[in-house]
Amino acid sequence: MIAADGFPEEPAVAWKWKKDGARVRKLTDPATGEVCAEIFDSRVEDVDLAVKAAEKAFRGSWQKTIPAKRAEFLAAMATKIDALKEKIAWADCWNMGKPLQSGRGEAGNGAGTFRYYAGLLGSAGGQVVPVAKEGFDFTIRVPFGVVVGIVPWNFPFPIACWKTAAALAAGNCVILKPAQFTPWSALLLAEAAREAGLPEGVLQVLPGGGSELGDPLVTHPGVRKVSFTGSTEIGRHIMKMAANDIKRVSLELGGKSPNVVFADADVDKAAVASPGAVFDNTGQDCCARSRILVEEGVAERFVKGFVGATQKLKVGDPKKEDTELGPLVHQKQLETTESYVEAARKKGRKILCGGKRIGSKGFFYEPTLIVGCEKGDSWWQEEIFGPVASLRTFRTEEEAVQEANDSIYGLSGSLWTLGLDRALRVALAIESGNLSVNSHSSVFTQAPFGGVKQSGIGRELGQAGLEGFSEPKNIFIGKP
Ligand code: NAP
Ligand code: MG
Repeated sequence: MIAADGFPEEPAVAWKWKKDGARVRKLTDPATGEVCAEIFDSRVEDVDLAVKAAEKAFRGSWQKTIPAKRAEFLAAMATKIDALKEKIAWADCWNMGKPLQSGRGEAGNGAGTFRYYAGLLGSAGGQVVPVAKEGFDFTIRVPFGVVVGIVPWNFPFPIACWKTAAALAAGNCVILKPAQFTPWSALLLAEAAREAGLPEGVLQVLPGGGSELGDPLVTHPGVRKVSFTGSTEIGRHIMKMAANDIKRVSLELGGKSPNVVFADADVDKAAVASPGAVFDNTGQDCCARSRILVEEGVAERFVKGFVGATQKLKVGDPKKEDTELGPLVHQKQLETTESYVEAARKKGRKILCGGKRIGSKGFFYEPTLIVGCEKGDSWWQEEIFGPVASLRTFRTEEEAVQEANDSIYGLSGSLWTLGLDRALRVALAIESGNLSVNSHSSVFTQAPFGGVKQSGIGRELGQAGLEGFSEPKNIFIGKP
């Protein structure tokens, strides 16, 4: 059963994926809690079949495909994704609760990523190296062969595209495992690949549960690299499993990013921009700036502006055109969010806005600000992945930096100041892979993205994203 209501075109994507012996997975619409679609999960046996098909495709034609031809395939995929944009937005709206306007933007981001890597292929080469011997030394970049991309549910489509576009551009064949809650748009990516004429086996999508398919995929001897985005817990598990055969891994994991507001900032601008920095995607964002640190003298003004801007956010039915924040992805994510806020309430922390569930249908929660937090509070230290921001004040720059770095994570963050010296000093001192000054944007197709500390290893996007899917090979030709 696939709900057609509201879907702009024929919505039955999933049934095309039926395979003999495959099991049905019911997908839930987080806006209602009701089943909205059924898809067919891959079986464990499919892992080996997929790896063999990918190896065959790699050795057969893909390895020999010249970069200019690969670039043509990538550009064709971008065009097909653009054509599927509306379906992709609706798919993520149905199975993830993503507001349509965000889904369209993310589909566009996916197409843009393919276009970007198609363009980059023309300039991605090796080096000529002046070595200490007569002859000629040069490097080329070689792909791994078969790589696996494991994708989370919070940005199902763009993250699938980041991994796939970079890996294909570098010359690999890709097996993609979407999150069990949000496989739909990844299946549309496979549809785009087919329509773009990508040779069979070059991109395969295996929907199914991570606890079942994860280990067979990660430990398969034919898989040379695993690119994972998700929780630190599963990232750690993958890294351990990959150690057995020294498999390459890149891990984009959790975060608890700081948002540091100095008194010399444009405080009003910071206050109005900061709700988006933590509540976008209903807080289900590894980059969410959920630890707000404000200099004491401007805290009251900042909080007033922040709460005012938060109350203007349009939270509700993700299928409505003007909705900005939809529901949480599933019941458990709602319960996790509720339990952190309840714990804060019990400890007597002040909740200045939000703090409760919206309605009884679906998994909606109000954007929430908790103030007066202590350093050891769980909601201050741990990634909630819901629309909850916590706030503390500081007195000195040194204290701000120390607190910003007091986390196991180091993915992202913002700092707000009009002092150029301070901006540079603090930007360098904060331990994170990405940082924005006087802005909350730090993820761009053209720039490297990834974390330090327990936020992960490796980078996606930009030139670094392409390099992450290949290794340099050095060749020396002796003097004849
Ligand atoms: P998760 O378990 O890490 O899921 C991420 C991906 O890994 C999914 O595709 C998942 O498949 C797969 N997976 C699960 N177990 C696996 C295994 N043993 N081997 C290989 N892959 C496996 O994350 P979650 O449980 O959905 O969310 C838990 C928390 O993780 C969130 O609350 C949040 O704090 C964090 N998170 C972070 C990000 C991020 O962008 N950094 C994204 C998502 C979640 P299934 O969906 O089938 O389990
Ligand atoms: Mg999990």
